Amino acid sequence: EPELSGEFATLMGWADSVRRMKVRANAETPLDARTARNFGAEGIGLSRTEHMFFDAERIVAVREMILSDDEKGRRAALAKLLPMQRQDFVELFTIMQGLPVTIRLLDPPLHEFLPHSEAEIAEVAQALGVSADKLKARAHALHEFNPMLGFRGVRLAIVYPEIAEMQARAIFEAASQVAKETGETIKPEIMVPLVMTSAELDLTKARIDAVAKEVAQETGVTLDYYVGTMIELPRAALRAGDIAKTAEFFSFGTNDLTQTTLGISRDDASTFLGDYVAKGILATDPFVTIDREGVGELVALAARNGREARPGIKLGICGEHGGDPATIAFCEETGLDYVSCSPYRVPIARLAAAQAALNVKAEGQA
Ligand code: PEP
Ligand code: MG
Repeated sequence: EPELSGEFATLMGWADSVRRMKVRANAETPLDARTARNFGAEGIGLSRTEHMFFDAERIVAVREMILSDDEKGRRAALAKLLPMQRQDFVELFTIMQGLPVTIRLLDPPLHEFLPHSEAEIAEVAQALGVSADKLKARAHALHEFNPMLGFRGVRLAIVYPEIAEMQARAIFEAASQVAKETGETIKPEIMVPLVMTSAELDLTKARIDAVAKEVAQETGVTLDYYVGTMIELPRAALRAGDIAKTAEFFSFGTNDLTQTTLGISRDDASTFLGDYVAKGILATDPFVTIDREGVGELVALAARNGREARPGIKLGICGEHGGDPATIAFCEETGLDYVSCSPYRVPIARLAAAQAALNVKAEGQA
């Protein structure tokens, strides 16, 4: 694992003494979390739990979960996943030693998990006790032409709340276990993705709260926790005032927010973007540096309305932009509390946050 040392570590210390924003990392594996800590991350701002579901040991149960046609089948598959998911969080909480850890509920387009080969199909069909043809028909029904605008994010938690319940249970059980073992106070931050209305968040938070009560009764440990949301759709940014009545924090998902605000696919190499920047139509590649005039306006609006509805609401950014110095300057100007970026960009983010803080201060004095 890489580490910072010598003069570089001294320089980073100077940067830390002047910056205002915290720097967190996006991490889901123990290796990423340790690297993030070594690079000075002050928490995890985004743990993408879907990455934990592709494991060879888990994928069959995940496929059973999404291809079962009833809740009982889904719950049986989720029961197999629970101990593994709990262990994921035990590791993250242990490595992060009481620093904030934001865990995002499952957010993949479901088709990413579908079985492809005949052998995979047969394996899942057998586990569910259905014919291969029936299983293929169910998989086919999940096909979407635009999966990134489809059945993902909180939409999964609305239709299949038992998935969110399993994840919430894994989080609370893991946090109680680590708190008992280490004596640290663990206050998990549960993040709901792709929210567009406050009702989606209200329904999901009610489920999470119910699980928290159950686990507290079972373990005898009452945990504090936050439930918050990603702001990654224009509608959510516009309705941030309503959403903040329930959300205890916002994290700006600028990857999706850029895609949905500009209507430009984040997954396709958009061959026209170079021309757009060269001709001055867009100031920057909007997937690298935040589009201040569009996406930035939505972020600023949501921050303002979120704070009005819930003074002191914690605000961060966790899209790829969170590690980009020009975007970090924007985040400082907007008064966000933290940026979260990939572990290897944490040192740059610490420097950029310091520089941004100095610039904002200098402007205030000018
Ligand atoms: C985002 O949309 O900016 C984000 C952080 O979520 P993901 O990249 O996982 O969609
Ligand atoms: Mg997103």
